Amino acid sequence: MDGKRDFKPVVGFFCFTCCEGCGFTVLFLDNLMQILDKIDLKYFNLIKEKDKKAEFDLAFVEGAITTKSEIAKLKKLRAKSKTLVAIGACACYGGIPAMRNFIENKDLEKYTYNKQSIEDSIEAQPIENFIKVDYKLRGCPILKDEFTSFIESYISGREWISFKGPVCMQCPRRGKNCFLGEKKMCLGAVTNGGCNATCVREGIPCIMCRGPLETANFPAEIALFKRWGVEQREIMGKLGKFGQQKLKKKENDKT
Ligand code: SF4
Ligand code: SF4
Ligand code: SF4
Repeated sequence: MDGKRDFKPVVGFFCFTCCEGCGFTVLFLDNLMQILDKIDLKYFNLIKEKDKKAEFDLAFVEGAITTKSEIAKLKKLRAKSKTLVAIGACACYGGIPAMRNFIENKDLEKYTYNKQSIEDSIEAQPIENFIKVDYKLRGCPILKDEFTSFIESYISGREWISFKGPVCMQCPRRGKNCFLGEKKMCLGAVTNGGCNATCVREGIPCIMCRGPLETANFPAEIALFKRWGVEQREIMGKLGKFGQQKLKKKENDKT
């Protein structure tokens, strides 16, 4: 980021294929009005019409890319945005829409409204497969506190630093009563932290909604679950929900 700003940055929120839950998370911020006072909001699909001529200091993008026409739209958006932030698991990793990647196009026709959408369809992918992404706000949905910390840093011109390390680093069960010791499939060790291990604190194993750690050792995690007797299909279902790109990379590295 480039020092304290003496102007209101022009900001836009853009949505590709997703449930728009991350956009709603922003709408539900307690401090939304204070944030809106400090920015020049030119587009937000949920609350503000598009100003077609606008160029953006800061663009937030939610959703995975699932069609050829979305690729073209995304590239145009990148060309007119100084800083671009992927928000949510769909934009960062393909997220829930990437479940479509396990289904053949011929079978997809059963679940979609028209044939034309199948012809335009591609594998669901994170936005960084097509454009440069400056920052990622992870999670499904994003965390309110993390979004606030990011935008306040941006407005005041401070560099925003994301949490580095796995969910386990913030986990109260680490070294004491880890779910893995109970043979429960907790994915905290291979997942980007920064959520304060929210689910684990509530007694629920991590399902990797903040995406796979860059250094995640998937083969070791898979081998552990196999030793417990978990079926390959179930393991891939767990790891593939948010970690599909990582699994694919491992497959490609083998070939
Ligand atoms: S990351 Fe989750 S909440 Fe956000 S848009 Fe995607 S599916 Fe919805
Ligand atoms: S996040 Fe899960 S795997 Fe990591 S220490 Fe906590 S319970 Fe164990
Ligand atoms: S504990 Fe795991 S599933 Fe829960 S919010 Fe954190 S990363 Fe997401």
